[in-house]
Amino acid sequence: MRFAFGNSELGTRNSELEIFMKNAVLITIGNEVLSGTTVDTNSNFIAKELSKIGISVSQIFTISDEIEIIKNTLQNAFQLTDLVITTGGLGPTKDDKTKKAFCEFFNDEIVYDEETFQHLKTRLQRIGRLEIIERNREQAMILSKAKVFQNHNGTAPSLMVEDNGKIAICLPGVPYEVKPLVKDQIIPYLQKEFESNFLKIRTVSVVNYPESLLSDALEEWELNLPENFSLSYLPIANRVKLKLTASGKDLEVLENQLEEEISKIRPLLKAHIISENGDKIEEILHDFLISRNLTISTAESCTGGELSHLITSVSGSSNYFLGGICTYQTQKKTEILGVSEELIQEKTVVSAEVAQAMSLGCQKLFKTDVALSTTGVAGPNSDEFNSEIGTVFYSIRVKDFEKTFRLYLPHLERKDFMNFVSQKVLQDLIQILIQENL
Ligand code: ATP
Repeated sequence: MRFAFGNSELGTRNSELEIFMKNAVLITIGNEVLSGTTVDTNSNFIAKELSKIGISVSQIFTISDEIEIIKNTLQNAFQLTDLVITTGGLGPTKDDKTKKAFCEFFNDEIVYDEETFQHLKTRLQRIGRLEIIERNREQAMILSKAKVFQNHNGTAPSLMVEDNGKIAICLPGVPYEVKPLVKDQIIPYLQKEFESNFLKIRTVSVVNYPESLLSDALEEWELNLPENFSLSYLPIANRVKLKLTASGKDLEVLENQLEEEISKIRPLLKAHIISENGDKIEEILHDFLISRNLTISTAESCTGGELSHLITSVSGSSNYFLGGICTYQTQKKTEILGVSEELIQEKTVVSAEVAQAMSLGCQKLFKTDVALSTTGVAGPNSDEFNSEIGTVFYSIRVKDFEKTFRLYLPHLERKDFMNFVSQKVLQDLIQILIQENL
């Protein structure tokens, strides 16, 4: 092993790290991210994972894959923190620029590592690649000082170099390689080596309560939160996620503290709270439908499948989601969902009545307890009825109960419109299930 913590060092290291390990800097390397072709989802993921062990990201740099630039950025990053994590520019197609930059920065040398090569060989053989090409052998070239985190989903291993209390970890760029490396190896490693605090998070979802009024209502409670707590307001659609984070060494104590603080806001927010422990709306819905043993289906128009996409992005959704249909063309609403042509002509396709008829048709078609429908104009062009751009009607049907909603969102771009409406439909469905006790 090229990297080891001596026991004698560990004592000092831990006490020092208590201080410096609270922050990290991330460096995203790649021209694709700079040009906007690739969205930097890696930093987002890594920052979230680090936060679970009490490490917050203080800055994220995005840079091109040039050795000098990588070295300069490492230099700048280490002025701010002692933990730097890079993604990208590691594999053979990028000429291993990050590895070379690390090598020069840490004044190290690149050496062949048999263990990494064997790992690579086994992996390639397992996926049916019997021939090991020279380029693969290059992937087993590592920094002599590095600790290696083997990559089980790609060829470039992640390397960690420690020098004078400064730690740099380089990761590949491909998200499906980054995620398991971080989650299964790097986070447990950092947690174990540096005894970081545990973080316990509870997310309370508050709906139909404007953010500014909400912060007024919660001001006193917020001011009196324990010192080991932090609170953030995260709005999405018209839900505000109150993310309450408690840090400390004892998970049970943290859980009790969180419960106590949430019990104080319940009487203040009452029915505006739709969940006390969930982040994504589709995950909250999952728990509601499972616990109530309800099935669901969708009939979409202006959301173009986004609603069913959201519902099915949760693993286990096949237990309740029976199907969805995207009746985009007006005629299909009649043919598939049985919406009468006369009704469409009389009320226009973007109307409360058509939304209701669509959810009814959907409920009959899929034979589900819950049926959702959307009809509207996402823009930028209107429909054959000249409906106002940004208008949407949606209907929520739970068994015999039905409620129709109207939204007007002319300011939103097409994709944002679809996402907002889908979020809001699920949010309102959950509120109906609670309020109507369905
Ligand atoms: P190689 O392609 O040589 O194996 P690598 O694994 O280090 O190198 P890059 O070439 O930098 O990774 O990126 C590979 C792909 O991973 C990119 O084409 C892009 O699709 C994706 N990717 C890179 N960086 C990011 C990022 N920050 N967020 C999301 N995806 C990314």
